[in-house]
Amino acid sequence: MSTPALDILQRVFGYTSFRGEQAAIVEHLYSGNDCLVLMPTGGGKSLCYQVPALLREGTAIVVSPLIALMQDQVDALTQLGVAAAFLNSSLSPLQQREVEQRLLRRELKLLYVAPERLLGERMLDQLTQVPISLFAIDEAHCVSQWGHDFRPEYRGLNRLHERFPQVPRIALTATADAPTRAEIIERLGLAGARQFISSFDRPNIRYQVVEKDNARRQLREFLADRRDESGIVYCLSRKKVDETAAALAADGFDALPYHAGMDQALRAANQQRFLREDGVVMVATIAFGMGIDKPDVRYVAHLDLPKSMEGYYQETGRAGRDGLPAEAWLCYGLGDVVTMSQMIAQSESGQERKRVERAKLEALLGYAEATSCRRRLLLAYFGEMRSENCGNCDNCIKPPQARDATEVAQKALSAVYRTGQRFGVGHLVSVLRGEDSERLRSWNHDKLSVFGIGRDLDARQWSSVFRHLVAAGYLAADHEGYGTLHLTESSRVVLKGEVRVLMRLAAGGEQRRAERKAARTSARGATAHNSLQISDGERALWDALRNLRARLAKEQNVPAYVIFHDATLLDMLREHPMSIHELARINGVGATKLEKYGEAFLAVLTQAA
Ligand code: ADP
Ligand code: ZN
Repeated sequence: MSTPALDILQRVFGYTSFRGEQAAIVEHLYSGNDCLVLMPTGGGKSLCYQVPALLREGTAIVVSPLIALMQDQVDALTQLGVAAAFLNSSLSPLQQREVEQRLLRRELKLLYVAPERLLGERMLDQLTQVPISLFAIDEAHCVSQWGHDFRPEYRGLNRLHERFPQVPRIALTATADAPTRAEIIERLGLAGARQFISSFDRPNIRYQVVEKDNARRQLREFLADRRDESGIVYCLSRKKVDETAAALAADGFDALPYHAGMDQALRAANQQRFLREDGVVMVATIAFGMGIDKPDVRYVAHLDLPKSMEGYYQETGRAGRDGLPAEAWLCYGLGDVVTMSQMIAQSESGQERKRVERAKLEALLGYAEATSCRRRLLLAYFGEMRSENCGNCDNCIKPPQARDATEVAQKALSAVYRTGQRFGVGHLVSVLRGEDSERLRSWNHDKLSVFGIGRDLDARQWSSVFRHLVAAGYLAADHEGYGTLHLTESSRVVLKGEVRVLMRLAAGGEQRRAERKAARTSARGATAHNSLQISDGERALWDALRNLRARLAKEQNVPAYVIFHDATLLDMLREHPMSIHELARINGVGATKLEKYGEAFLAVLTQAA
């Protein structure tokens, strides 16, 4: 590792060491070579071109499709004392000319540019007049039609190389799959470039799937210890977003809604508050999140099933970009499976596309129902094989008791068959449990051989059995949305006993109540249950540090994390520096920030000592 790169990292950014492939990438680019970088969200892509930009002569040109992010990136660099600016349609003509003047005066180390701007003759012409240190093409998958976010403007970016063949290029993306990668290389003319491919694992994210019972209550319980943390709650429909946000707000959370049906200005204002303030809960449809690179999102909760593993991974990936502990919490039930199957069946897509969508849903259901390490399954889906369990997912922490439930499954399937394959779970469970009801008698279902053969399980346990059978393809829901279940081709092998059905059986009512009570008691005890494990004793200082950060951010109209990340505040809390010298050693405190904020933070720290 060249010392100049490490020196920049420590002095300007205040970090002690490079992460993963960063050092190799920086070295490669610094020496004037092209590369393609695949790194998961939060992996630390920006430093890969920011450090070489500071080391090489001239201005680095960063292409990004996300106009909303440029401001924040430039704010963050300015805070570090780095000369940076952006050019996009949000600037007035006068402001644009000012930035161009700074470029031509060779004052800028980094210039962020929207692709359509960059490829205009005017811009290209200006670039020939100044030394260019490198081109960084962020979100490089936008060049690919395979990718999920194709931008036609990206297609022209190979012109850069034709005009400036001697300038090194770095293309970066968090989208992993092979066809997309191949297309990026082809479209951007990067065939000779070295590829840096990082693991897609996000070890700091804890994956958890809970069985849906009363989703709103479950969400409230999950959030109980996370009151002052930033998080995202995803819902499928706009209506549910509005209702959930209102319910959380009534509960005292700083919760805001976000979906495509809202007034544009309100939506933008909500996003702005989420980005800039601490502790805001964003309740949103998947319209929210693209290009949100807030580092301190502590949890992503799904109240409905995502559409695919890709979607799930991308959405949960928005948690914990700062590398601190974060949670991915999915609450899922039979209703979700029915809704998703129905959405696929009723969509406008052609047969081939529907088949793909069904396969994607099945993969996700397999994940949700899994009794083994969830991280291994996730990574395997993206082609990364692990031989070890992760120790940081619900199934690793509390291994579920998977049991042979073949007989139970047979009873459930028989009930579907005997009642004519036109009833939903509620009715089927009543039959199995032999309930005394007018409705059952009116259908003569109290006379069936399956009536009352399942009294040993309670209603909730039965519904989890049905959910598992649907998820595994042994039962299917109707496509009209009535929630009625019918047998499938695979049902027969279960009924004949040709396969064993393994599943995790939900706990009975008694045990559930006991577990909830235990959880409530321990939450009141001394153990910290928030994601960052802030204990009661640390709380006062933690709040004081955050309040100071919030005040500084407000004064300068920048997001709180631009002043200092949570990781840096946490380091201050735990290391408790008592002098400027000690403060300089905290991770994330570089020379410029030390000078700007050192005294103020030290005052808070010494007061608390
Ligand atoms: P990406 O663009 O890959 O999603 P970022 O570049 O935004 O990731 O980096 C994610 C977070 O990790 C940022 O908060 C960044 O400051 C931090 N980070 C990156 N590299 C390092 C490092 N070497 N040491 C400490 N923190 C780092
Ligand atoms: Zn695990």
